[in-house]
Amino acid sequence: MPVGLVVQKYGGTSVADPDRIKAVADHVAFTRNHGNDVVVVVSAMGKSTDNLISLANAVSNIQPGREMDMLLTAGERISMSLLSIALAGIGIEAVSFTGSQVGIITDTIHTKAKILEVKGDRVRDALSQGKVVVVAGFQGVSTDSEVTTLGRGGSDTTAVALAAALNADVCEIYTDVTGVFTADPRIVPQARKLQRLQFDEMLEMAGVGSKVLALRSVEFARNHNVPIHVRSSYTWEPGTWVTTDASEGAAMEDPIISGVVQDASESKVTVIAVPDRPGVSAALFENLANANINVDMIVQNVSLDGSSTDITFTVPRTDLARAVQRLEQAKSDLKFAEVKSDTNVAKISVIGVGMRSHAGVALKMFETLAGKGINIQVISTSEIKVSVLVAAEYTELAVRALHTAYELDAA
Ligand code: ASP
Ligand code: MG
Repeated sequence: MPVGLVVQKYGGTSVADPDRIKAVADHVAFTRNHGNDVVVVVSAMGKSTDNLISLANAVSNIQPGREMDMLLTAGERISMSLLSIALAGIGIEAVSFTGSQVGIITDTIHTKAKILEVKGDRVRDALSQGKVVVVAGFQGVSTDSEVTTLGRGGSDTTAVALAAALNADVCEIYTDVTGVFTADPRIVPQARKLQRLQFDEMLEMAGVGSKVLALRSVEFARNHNVPIHVRSSYTWEPGTWVTTDASEGAAMEDPIISGVVQDASESKVTVIAVPDRPGVSAALFENLANANINVDMIVQNVSLDGSSTDITFTVPRTDLARAVQRLEQAKSDLKFAEVKSDTNVAKISVIGVGMRSHAGVALKMFETLAGKGINIQVISTSEIKVSVLVAAEYTELAVRALHTAYELDAA
């Protein structure tokens, strides 16, 4: 292993109990003893963030963001100090810090703050004294000097942001899977672990339902060119590298599609008989944007009689009730006939940078689904992704069929 500065992030399952924490301490010691400087970012133990949220729910429906952040940051404090204690037990000098102490400066939006700046002075000082530094993930301090959290899964972002600020050689993300797979192995047993992946692909995967890395952490890694190595804290085997453009030689043999991802977290909304005149779509979506509801896939049918058309789109299931309510309120203004919704849908996406240089990728997707008798309800695309919305009961059939069609099955 080359000597350098390594940032290692351990997720909740990796520090779930004393034995897991001791295993992590051993691996940190191993990395340190090979001459590397090591900065560790930890998540809260196991389900402890969920448990803290349940406690809040048990005492009140009204949950001020500031107090929720004070509460939830406690989870990561427990794991950071326990890991440092475990390191002391095996003779490694370590020091733990909160996000605030290391100068992770965020905006003032409690419970989903964005990082504005990482100072990191105390980390650099401690490293120069030969210590391992353990930092609480998922948290920072706002420009108003209040403690903030970065949103669920935010420890990944802490790790990448620190790696960028410290100019680390790699940001290793340790989790309970061995890497990023060509499909969810619970659905496709022949799914393969990807050796490497480009930031753009990982970004698209995280955006369409892959849970391996938090979306914001990948954005951060791409913007600051921080190589990420996703790997397992159970097997410690090499995992998946997420980097900028793949090395040239290997690119020739790259598959066109890197992965198939399913997402059951969205619902479909159809607005029936929307007047077909300029400005109506804008007004309709403005209503949703004002309520902070993210619209994803959109189709507008051609109007048959020239006077009205149906518009179909998807929203996060958690926002469905609010979206429908907003639209109902706008009904008399916008003069459409009806709003319908369907929660029984799944989005299936195929992703790969190879699409940039190969034609017929979408066609193969549509033919494969047609061959299985699966009806496509909505389609959306990007330069390196094709997504379709199908009835939820076809999720597994669709993912397996596509995985085979794009020749991703392990030999
Ligand atoms: N503990 C936080 C959560 O459960 C942050 C993280 O794990 O990344 O969302
Ligand atoms: Mg996580």
